[in-house]
Amino acid sequence: MVLRPNRSSTMDQPVVPHVVFLPFPAQGHVKPMLMLAELLSQAGFEATFINSNHIQHRLEHSINIATMYRRFPKFQFRSVTDGLPSDHPRSSSSIVQLLISARDETRTEFRNLLVNLGQKNGRWEPPTCIIADGIMSFAIDIAEELTIPVITFRTFSACCTWTYFHLTKLIEQGEVPFQGPGDVDMDKTITCIPGLEGTLRCRDLPGICRLKEANDPLLQFFIKETAAMPRAYGVILNTFDGLEASMVSKLGSFFSKIYTLGPLQGLFDTFAKSPSARTSFNGLLWKEDRGCISWLDFHPSRSVIYVSFGSLVCLVRDQLLEFWHGLVNSGKPFLWVLRSDSILGEDGVSEVPLELKAATEERGCIVDWAPQEEVLAHPAIGGFLTHSGWNSTLESIFAGVPMICWPMFADQQVNSRCVSELWKIGFDMKDKCERAVIEKLVRDLMESDEIVKSTDEFARMARDSVKEGGSSYSNLQKLIEDIKSISLAGKVSSSNAE
Ligand code: UDP
Repeated sequence: MVLRPNRSSTMDQPVVPHVVFLPFPAQGHVKPMLMLAELLSQAGFEATFINSNHIQHRLEHSINIATMYRRFPKFQFRSVTDGLPSDHPRSSSSIVQLLISARDETRTEFRNLLVNLGQKNGRWEPPTCIIADGIMSFAIDIAEELTIPVITFRTFSACCTWTYFHLTKLIEQGEVPFQGPGDVDMDKTITCIPGLEGTLRCRDLPGICRLKEANDPLLQFFIKETAAMPRAYGVILNTFDGLEASMVSKLGSFFSKIYTLGPLQGLFDTFAKSPSARTSFNGLLWKEDRGCISWLDFHPSRSVIYVSFGSLVCLVRDQLLEFWHGLVNSGKPFLWVLRSDSILGEDGVSEVPLELKAATEERGCIVDWAPQEEVLAHPAIGGFLTHSGWNSTLESIFAGVPMICWPMFADQQVNSRCVSELWKIGFDMKDKCERAVIEKLVRDLMESDEIVKSTDEFARMARDSVKEGGSSYSNLQKLIEDIKSISLAGKVSSSNAE
């Protein structure tokens, strides 16, 4: 990577690196990127955070941007189009449109914005570097064109990132694509991904492998985005070495610099002067219902199962009812996040059997959006029924809460396999949505001492990694120093040129 001189600096000025952040426009991508932006702002960096107009609009209604600007005077939000009309749902059933549209339509505005940011008093003073989402490789194209270093931030686990690097091999070996049960033996072991032989079965491969054609645009999208990542200066992962050291070391064959910074929320607690002021801690895109915290306060330790399928997954009515019956029949109190846009079909939640309603009034609490990190840290929580999104998985590990996994798409199938098979901190119920299974798994999870033991152990490792001297703590310092060196290199070559 050629380093572009920062012509504004002179040798006697302190170096203030300017980092531009570009997350993919969805909750699970914006949140970790914003945590990182806050951490680097805390280190004194100038930061420009580029959202889609849609996300920016929602953020403005949910977080106090003025407070954030007061805390970090060198931080600014900017926004660009994602190419979709404002009334587009942008949820799981239409996520492909968002992926393709963001790739094709954001590029020009992003480039113009960068050029604009670099033009200061008639001189070209480009940002020090760009930290771009690992599925927005057009940022790498543009960064190369403008000779600005770019670091790619993949919001997946290391294991899943490694799996995505093998999609082409999986296709060549005839393992992928497949359409699901009936088409192939879903329990067949996958042997062509080094380090994961014997771990992943067909059903554990990323959701995008369940397609008709190998040339499906979605599968090809992820193959291309993943192949572009090693062109970046380095890669950031929201994971920690104690959890994924062997996969991180395998990724070393693609990247010379790997910054494992997870769990980012833990790093924030360590580095930030006032963690409670974290902007990215608050409900970013939805208004949180804090009533559920008071509801939890009335429950004994480890007695409640928390249920949430993240920001994108939607349920059809049959699935909704299976979960509802399973939860009620388990006899355990439950706190359930049911987003207003998460039920597909017209009848939605309106017609619910009376016995479910009555049992929910007795021992359930349903909210539109919860303060998830706070919920998971609450002593009343004993288990998490999750869709296995990577943020949720890591938050659960950090809080020491065992999981029941019901993955739907993207990286979720891989994550749930790691939870159940590699780390043994939960159960995987993928491809099954039956009330009897749910009822049994909820009871087993809440009563299993063995799982609680391994969950506690990983939570301890997660906390150690973000403490002073821990691996993620040191990697953040390394990232800060590396960005400063990039900035300094620009400064030195600039003064040599003058
Ligand atoms: N989340 C939340 N409140 C909720 C549900 C989810 O704050 O009621 C947050 C959760 O803490 C996590 C993110 O939304 O950080 C979801 O990200 P994840 O990667 O788990 O799933 P995605 O939404 O991307 O599918």
